[in-house]
Amino acid sequence: MPDTRDVKSYIRTIPDFPHAGIRFRDVTTLFSDPRGFRVAVDQLLHPYAGIRIDKVAGLEARGFILGGAVAHQLSVGFIPVRKQGKLPGRTIAQDYTLEYGTATIEIHDDAVQPGERVLIVDDLLATGGTAEAGVRLIEKLGGVVVSLAFIIDLPELGGRARLEKLGLDVHALCA
Ligand code: IMP
Repeated sequence: MPDTRDVKSYIRTIPDFPHAGIRFRDVTTLFSDPRGFRVAVDQLLHPYAGIRIDKVAGLEARGFILGGAVAHQLSVGFIPVRKQGKLPGRTIAQDYTLEYGTATIEIHDDAVQPGERVLIVDDLLATGGTAEAGVRLIEKLGGVVVSLAFIIDLPELGGRARLEKLGLDVHALCA
């Protein structure tokens, strides 16, 4: 069993960032605490004991920090899913809707081989738009999304329901 102490206690909320009225969940305080970071990675991995995972995909940017640690722990490779124009090789892209407008994320077109089982990792699930776009990229390459793992789920924003409606497995450590 992993340490079950509350990861939430390491996360701070910054009011009015990046806009007035937004309560930003800041996981840098979790990442900077050696025990907090270890507990978060251990707890994230707990549901996947005995489940085959071939690669971990991290969503830019905090998903890189977390996903790198998770991939290392699993002894599997890590794939970055990045904002448009950041990856140097040949990419495929997926648009998704934001509160105002649209955004695009990309993945290298050789990052996943058909049939590979991929765990998607990010810090926070809100509307699920970013995560769903990540799923679409991996599936376009023929990968299988085993599950999506987050530190924080904001269920009132509907992301979990949206992903579960697509038949995806979702885990989060706190709300
Ligand atoms: P979604 O696409 O609406 O689910 O938003 C999730 C994405 O926005 C993730 O990549 C998060 O890192 C980022 N995000 C949204 N709100 C917050 C927050 O309060 N703290 C940290 N990241 C956030």
